[in-house]
Amino acid sequence: MKILIADSFDSSLPKRLSEIGEVLSDISKLNEAEVLLVRSKTKVTEEFLQGAPNLKLVIRGGVGLDNVDKKACEARGIKVMNTPEASSVAVAELAMALMIAVPNRLVEAHNSMREGKWLKKEIKRTELYKKTLGLLGIGRIGTEVAKRAKAFEMEVIAYDPFVKEHPIAKMVSLDELLKNSDYISIHTPLTDETKGMINSEVFAKMKNGVVIVNTGRAKVFDETALFEALKSGKVGFYATDVWPSDPPPEGYPLLSMPNVIMTPHIGASSKENLLRIGDRIVEILSNYKM
Ligand code: NAD
Repeated sequence: MKILIADSFDSSLPKRLSEIGEVLSDISKLNEAEVLLVRSKTKVTEEFLQGAPNLKLVIRGGVGLDNVDKKACEARGIKVMNTPEASSVAVAELAMALMIAVPNRLVEAHNSMREGKWLKKEIKRTELYKKTLGLLGIGRIGTEVAKRAKAFEMEVIAYDPFVKEHPIAKMVSLDELLKNSDYISIHTPLTDETKGMINSEVFAKMKNGVVIVNTGRAKVFDETALFEALKSGKVGFYATDVWPSDPPPEGYPLLSMPNVIMTPHIGASSKENLLRIGDRIVEILSNYKM
């Protein structure tokens, strides 16, 4: 079996896979590949597949499959798999890190000290304790965030059209979530239904100064409405790991807004997670019959 590793995985993976098949690491060998391993960088489009006549299996190391055209793969008889369980803890920990950074004013405190300032009096923190966290989507990652938020004694509510009851979060309607949340954390996949679902009407129903944490997908937001909500202060802070493109275009407005905290799509990039993704890929390919 010829396995093409197109994106970056744990450095131990090529050696481990060489016991299962021939490992290729040069994208120019796409025409030989029978198995393709991607994360989010490579876009597996219909056009891309035209250069892969021998492909039988695509494995996306991670959760979201929005960089793989599943219909085009299906039409060509190419199976698509992912490793959804591996990344939940890694992403949930980043969501918590972003959430904690905002009320503790960590970025501002750090930067001010770097600039030689001592803002002990000026920097007033707030607490997560007893604040309401609204989870938009409560699948694997949302559930891990709920567990951690409970440890901070937050009130955890969630909206998810496919989940009626949850052992940790109180399930509520979307309107109730918007009305009551001090913090909103995004954990939906990007689908036709969720694309642009947070628009100006939805922002209008949120608390003034709400903090939004996004480790889900950027395109869940109507971009113009998000910029407006940040400018007006309707959204107090937007802490995001995800972008409309990786990287976002030069001069992208969020990059210079004072009430935005950002990371470069590193939610799944913990060392431990990359090892877990590698373990799962080895397991899949060890049992895979061509
Ligand atoms: P999951 O499938 O376990 O959970 C997603 C949940 O969203 C499900 O319970 C589903 O019912 C719910 N949902 C679907 N449509 C909804 C809607 N309209 N409103 C509210 N909820 C809705 O997936 P997961 O493993 O928890 O991952 C969630 C998302 O996180 C992924 O799809 C991906 O986009 C993102 N993600 C980001 C990173 C990162 O690096 N930042 C890494 C992994 C995953």
